[in-house]
Amino acid sequence: MKTTILFLALLSLHFNLKCEEKIERVKIGNAVSPIKLSQKDFFVPKKIILVIGDGVGFNHIKLARLFEGGPKFNTAVDRMPISGIVTNYSFDDLYTDSAASGTAWATGVKTKNRFLGIDSAKQEVKNISEILDDYHYHSGLVATSSVTHASPAAHYAHIDSRYKEEAIATQLTESTIKIALGGGRKFFRIKNTDKLQFYLDFKKLTSISDSEKKIIGLFADSGINRGDGPTQLAMTKVAVKYLESSSDDCGRFFLMTEGSQIDWESHDNRVQPMLDEYQDFNNTINYLLGYASNRNDTLIIVTSDHETGGLNLLKQDQNEVIISWSTDRHTLAPIGVFAYGPGAEMFSGTFDHVDIFGKIIELADKAPSTSCDKHAE
Ligand SMILES: [Zn+2]
Repeated sequence: MKTTILFLALLSLHFNLKCEEKIERVKIGNAVSPIKLSQKDFFVPKKIILVIGDGVGFNHIKLARLFEGGPKFNTAVDRMPISGIVTNYSFDDLYTDSAASGTAWATGVKTKNRFLGIDSAKQEVKNISEILDDYHYHSGLVATSSVTHASPAAHYAHIDSRYKEEAIATQLTESTIKIALGGGRKFFRIKNTDKLQFYLDFKKLTSISDSEKKIIGLFADSGINRGDGPTQLAMTKVAVKYLESSSDDCGRFFLMTEGSQIDWESHDNRVQPMLDEYQDFNNTINYLLGYASNRNDTLIIVTSDHETGGLNLLKQDQNEVIISWSTDRHTLAPIGVFAYGPGAEMFSGTFDHVDIFGKIIELADKAPSTSCDKHAE
């Protein structure tokens, strides 16, 4: 009995110490808040851009809002007129990894953790880039991880383990993806052909002369080095420019751009580096909202694959927020979805990751039948 009490006392002491260790402070900022955008009339979107904040839960967004400017500040997602809640579980586990959640929105099928572009019985399922290709949407990918990492790979790969990155790299070179920018050099056999051009220096990519060729830009061996590598924002700008010039007369494209390392910093329970990662993600969304607000044909959807770190916002202490982390893994916490542009209305309410796939395909299916619309022929 005595030993049990002693054990319990030690256990609770251990947990208290562990909790105290993880408490950190974040200063509440004071930047000027940009205005919110109003929703535009419904048109079928010619350009669909999916922005993923890997590991971003509602508390990540709230903390970024407080860090930037305080409770009234509008971060990029706060400016978006349509919002909803996404449910995100894998085929046989409430806990989802990025491979299963990526496969959910990229194929409309629930699969097992670690699987990409295959169902739970290992049958290949078509992913969104392959389907949208039939509707004349050229597809592109941007990630601050390697381009063979789970979320980007879900858009082109069909494989039973996200960790087989060399095989995934080969699948990328053979896929319908027109441009992929990020890290992952070590997984590729770099060989330019008359159809495919590799870029290993981001500076050289700013003037793409030939948008007929498929482009794979690899700016790090694995994940992008956040000290001197290109930002998500910079890579996204290049991808948008390329997709604009490479798309055919229909002028349609689909782009997925991911702030991959928000998840990594949340796994490591490092709040300031997490906020730095969030800022790049936030800048990327603000740039895309600016792009979309100047036109009537671009839909921006922002969501996440899962929450990472179990981030808790505990209280205010003068001009700081006291935060703590509950875990170094993903949690089952709900995540958000935000939308702006034609078709954004479809993304309000509560729905599952697989429905994101269905909604995008439904919108593409409404695209006017023109001579360039292969699907309608
Ligand atoms: Zn993760």
